[in-house]
Amino acid sequence: MNQVVNIPEIFGSDVFTEASMKQRLDPAVYEAWKQCISTGTSLSLDNANAIANAMKDWAIEKGATHYTHWFQPMTGITAEKHDSFITPTGDGGVLMDFSGKELVRGEPDASSFPSGGLRATFEARGYTAWDPTSFAFIKDGSLYIPTCFFSYNGDALDKKTPLLRSCEEVSREALRILRLFGDSDTKRVIACVGAEQEYFLLPKALYAQREDLRLTGRTLFGAPAPKGQELDDHYFGAIRTRVSSYMKDLDEQLWRLGVLSKTKHNEAAPCQHEMAPIYSGAVHACDSNQLAMEIMKKCAAKHDLVCLLHEKPFAGINGSGKHNNWSLATDTGKNLFSPGRTPRQNARFLVFLAAFIQGVDEYQDFLRCTVASAGNDHRLGSNEAPPAIVSIYLGDELNAVVDSIVRGTNYTDPTKSMMRIGVDAMPAIPKDTTDRNRTSPLAFTGNKFEFRMPGSSQSVAGPNIALNTIMAEELRKFADVLESTDDFDSALQKLVCQALSDHKRIIFSGNGYSQQWEEEAARRGLSNLSSTAVCLPTYVSEKNIDLVTRHGIFTEHEFRARFAIHLESYNKHLAIEAKTMLDMATCQILPAALRYSHALTDGLIAKKSIGAACKAESSLIAKLTTHCDWLYDACEKLRLDLQQLPGTPEDTALYCHDTIIPDMNSVREQADALEKLTAKDYWPFPTYADLLFY
Ligand code: ADP
Ligand code: MG
Repeated sequence: MNQVVNIPEIFGSDVFTEASMKQRLDPAVYEAWKQCISTGTSLSLDNANAIANAMKDWAIEKGATHYTHWFQPMTGITAEKHDSFITPTGDGGVLMDFSGKELVRGEPDASSFPSGGLRATFEARGYTAWDPTSFAFIKDGSLYIPTCFFSYNGDALDKKTPLLRSCEEVSREALRILRLFGDSDTKRVIACVGAEQEYFLLPKALYAQREDLRLTGRTLFGAPAPKGQELDDHYFGAIRTRVSSYMKDLDEQLWRLGVLSKTKHNEAAPCQHEMAPIYSGAVHACDSNQLAMEIMKKCAAKHDLVCLLHEKPFAGINGSGKHNNWSLATDTGKNLFSPGRTPRQNARFLVFLAAFIQGVDEYQDFLRCTVASAGNDHRLGSNEAPPAIVSIYLGDELNAVVDSIVRGTNYTDPTKSMMRIGVDAMPAIPKDTTDRNRTSPLAFTGNKFEFRMPGSSQSVAGPNIALNTIMAEELRKFADVLESTDDFDSALQKLVCQALSDHKRIIFSGNGYSQQWEEEAARRGLSNLSSTAVCLPTYVSEKNIDLVTRHGIFTEHEFRARFAIHLESYNKHLAIEAKTMLDMATCQILPAALRYSHALTDGLIAKKSIGAACKAESSLIAKLTTHCDWLYDACEKLRLDLQQLPGTPEDTALYCHDTIIPDMNSVREQADALEKLTAKDYWPFPTYADLLFY
């Protein structure tokens, strides 16, 4: 019998929501908090004390004993340090206390979080500050307070602060445009995000036997299983019971935490699944995604499973991405990427569309950099995920509109005169129009853009900071022009037409996986930054620094620190992978293959003594010997090359890409050949067939 879950009742039950605040706070305090989040005014200490007290009472009723400031350092995962509510009463007892000061500010020891040089070693302190726009919640007996994380000098050390800043900026610039269209109702424009999360589930017992999975999150070895995903029998297939009960449990936990988990299904690769939430404001969506990733892992453990969020756990089958659906909406509920019904609404839509196209073209390298990581390098540009070239897919209907504007013709009938923006109505652009172009990195899907390049383990903060900031910048330029004109309609026509003509090279409808596209993209002058090592140096270009500092998203100092951290992370990941590989090859694979070869040799000697020919043994021994020797040589080369790492992080990244990765590929090639030659009971860990078809 299925246990009945009352979803509306449990949804958000572990969150100190607006409703709970309204219910538990003095009306004046509640109003002060509302004021604080809508206009950014600061809260008085009295009000902070009152909120802290109400939060604590609520948390204790729910069984919490501790509180923690929850933040998102630049590791890409979240961090927390728990303090109990106990305060001595002076007579040997304690009471449960939580002050406004403790709510508003924390001081975790920050010395072990990456800072990219933002913190001098003598001032390792970091500070956390309550983000009153995100709701506190309860998990594992602690009250979690979402916070921003910054250094003694006030530099942002986290992913949340710049995301909040970018949301403010895009709202501010978008409002300027809306005002020009006579919209005086909208007070805020909200960047909306829905992050579809792909993941793999494996049995814990099998996972535990593989050092590569445990240390690096992906398999560094493994010959292809006889079956892969070629039968397409997993995508949307019936979900097996064990996985289904995991998903049910996961949903329930996410709902309690106010995560809008909506869709679940099997993905293309065996053992691969997806969870998609209903979209929400970018900051909430980012928090929710961080929580979802964490709960996915924890919940798996309860079901004797392991959840892999790595971008490419297995060679030869699909990797995992995180489709980042992004749009802009007004606080009055209008989607600004929704083509409207009237000419005026169409004109507004075209302004936002043109700004987006112009921005993505101008800042394609910046966007590309936000998804660059060692893990994602295995996906981007490898014929199953979007290519490393950034381009936009608009769909046939919208393409026709853009073409007609650029060519100056009518979109339905090219012999007629052009569409006049703000006067003529466009055709309705149906959602989910033609066959979805799955090969596009950035697809328009009716009223939003689906950015498909982010990796599955990544925080979505980076990509959304970039999307928001790029959009803010282009809207700023547009607003500067449009605010200073006497003839709005013709200025608008000129502006949109110019933007689309200048930047239409970024629009591409064909097959993004093809060789022809690489050639075509090169002719169009689009970037093709095929790996993290070649891509990251473009991050700190003058143009990008201008962009992020103009909008106050990062100081130059903060921005350069991010670059240093991303580079360092790439280098560290590769070093760990290379060392794990050497360890497994030297201490597990080679000994196993040699043991098998010795056993064969013993058998051969015994059989030869009774006159048998021993063709199978001789031939197998010869092959095993050859591949063992080659594996040994490949390991020695990798070992030596690892000792020659160059001095600077930039050079190290390139060296890893040009030397270490090819070395690792050679080691793998020999090890995988040995796997196919060695008797199953000698092989030291589960194979692809064991892992993927358990
Ligand atoms: P799919 O891409 O799998 O066809 P959907 O179109 O239903 O699925 O949406 C995928 C994701 O996009 C979901 O997380 C959904 O909430 C989100 N989404 C839908 N509309 C918007 C929007 N206007 N802005 C941002 N995200 C959106
Ligand atoms: Mg999708």
